Amino acid sequence: MTEQRHGAARLAAVVINPVKSPGDGFRAEVQALCREEGWAEPLWLETTEDDPGAGQARQALESGADVVIAAGGDGTVRCVAGVLAGTGTAMGLLPLGTGNLLARNLGIGVADPIGAARDVLAGADIAVDAVKAHLDHAEDGQLFLVMAGLGYDAAIMANTVDGLKDRVGWLAYVEAGIRHLPGRPVPARIRIDGGPEVRRRIRSVLVGNCGQLMGGVEIFPQARVDDGVLDLVALSPRGRFGWFNVVAGLFGRNQDKNRSVQYLAGKSAEIILDDPQEFQLDGDHFGSGKHLLVTVVPGALTIRTSASRAEAGVLG
Ligand SMILES: [Mg+2]
Repeated sequence: MTEQRHGAARLAAVVINPVKSPGDGFRAEVQALCREEGWAEPLWLETTEDDPGAGQARQALESGADVVIAAGGDGTVRCVAGVLAGTGTAMGLLPLGTGNLLARNLGIGVADPIGAARDVLAGADIAVDAVKAHLDHAEDGQLFLVMAGLGYDAAIMANTVDGLKDRVGWLAYVEAGIRHLPGRPVPARIRIDGGPEVRRRIRSVLVGNCGQLMGGVEIFPQARVDDGVLDLVALSPRGRFGWFNVVAGLFGRNQDKNRSVQYLAGKSAEIILDDPQEFQLDGDHFGSGKHLLVTVVPGALTIRTSASRAEAGVLG
């Protein structure tokens, strides 16, 4: 088999979250697809609660996989990407379950897993940025691809019942958010690219590598996932109509005049808070902290997607 692999047949590794697998026949369907496309039998590596994707991605690299397919939600994608970034080995996306924000941002269909796998096997490569996040000066950073959230947003994730999130997707976050609405803004200092501090009383800071963050909502309309720039928004609801102003600022036209919502962009951002806030990366809760450093890693990740999409450009 190894000889065949080093001959014509290429090898795909599928790192799959079994909880999100569409059913018993799915593995056989992917195997049949690989045969059809002239690929070797795929490596099938299931994630576990203890190892949600990184160990499996390392195993895939060691096995010499030509492409590592992350089959699951945004959590699986983030764990696999954390290993593949900087290696040049391509990641394919096989979106399962709800969410799938990176796939949606890249225009990859989320309703047809086998179709997505076919696109990967016959696809071409694009390079996208990743963002490295260090919480509370941790030596080891965590990569994320879609968004990081401090404060309100992460608190929402932490308080959302897992089962509910799977059943109704992003709506669950909104539901949890409503329960959370009364809250105290926290004094924050934000520095972009080591520049002067912007001071704000914030309820939430979102850092985006992509434009579309929640439920198809375009939080950063100008964001590109391949421009070497990260985008940040600080949400500062004030007074009785605080959250109303935030929503108006996010979706309205007078964003510059709305002090409830401040947009910033750069290659790195440092956020220093007076009180610890909840923290999440691509929808996974990471505890709480008072200091966050995020740095864009331009073109860190190679994504294999349909050849026509690759030719049209990342967001074409
Ligand atoms: Mg960008």
